[in-house]
Amino acid sequence: MEIIESVQEMQEKAEALRVAGHTIGLVPTMGFLHEGHLELMRVAKRLASRVVVSIFVNPSQFGPSEDFERYPRDREGDLEKAQSVGVDIVFLPTAPEMYPAGFQTRVQVLEVTQHLCGVSRPTHFDGVATVVMKLFHIARPHLAVFGQKDFQQLTVISRMAADLDMGIEIVGVPIVREPDGLAMSSRNKYLSREERIVARCLKKGLDLAQDLVRAGERDGAAVRRTVEALISGQPFTRIDYISLADPETLEEISVLQRDTLMALAVFVGNTRLIDNAVLEVRA
Ligand code: AMP
Repeated sequence: MEIIESVQEMQEKAEALRVAGHTIGLVPTMGFLHEGHLELMRVAKRLASRVVVSIFVNPSQFGPSEDFERYPRDREGDLEKAQSVGVDIVFLPTAPEMYPAGFQTRVQVLEVTQHLCGVSRPTHFDGVATVVMKLFHIARPHLAVFGQKDFQQLTVISRMAADLDMGIEIVGVPIVREPDGLAMSSRNKYLSREERIVARCLKKGLDLAQDLVRAGERDGAAVRRTVEALISGQPFTRIDYISLADPETLEEISVLQRDTLMALAVFVGNTRLIDNAVLEVRA
């Protein structure tokens, strides 16, 4: 496995791979890798002949009062894990390498960024779109793999790739969960033992919503209220949002008429967790 830290070297390597006829699959991450990330890498391996994983904690996607400084990092552990699933190249740039002095460009996806996490994290998706655009130009992938755990991020990147004719296939991978249902996340490390138990309530809320819909409930407000009661009944929780939305436009819906995204963002203690499911709605 090769480790590359410079943008230019990564571009030259990607170009050489392309000339040699390889297909390049890119998996962008912020590191502190877990089984969810590794699943993305396995999918990339199946679809591409060379897999590049980027590890970069991107400052521009964190808000001023968010956890950029204390975001967990584990370079050696990450390299071991990436190697264990057969990754070919790890791209590990520094912040000055990605954002040299004078940097002043921003990629903005307009509409799908306005809902869900975009409300409480207004600059987040500009940071994501900009860094992913850079990674696409650096690693020159034919396809890029993202997790459905960050459903809105996947939507934003798919929109950007289509709108700007990037010729990169965007592949989404289902959420990988802990045995008790909690969606895997690098941020789960922040949870105390008590908070970790409480954190199960996100998945329980999603399951409850699916049960209600299966039993015939179609009133979005009623579904939301029930999930809200379940989550706010748990200690340490503070709800950022509970949304029912169109899975394509991410616009909020009030009546469930077709398959509907339920997306949650909940603080457990100081840790903001997200989770989602597409609720099956039968006519
Ligand atoms: P992150 O390192 O948190 O920025 O995540 C990097 C990529 O891994 C993103 O595409 C995430 O959606 C994906 N990812 C993170 N956690 C999971 C999970 N539990 N299941 C599937 N994909 C995940």
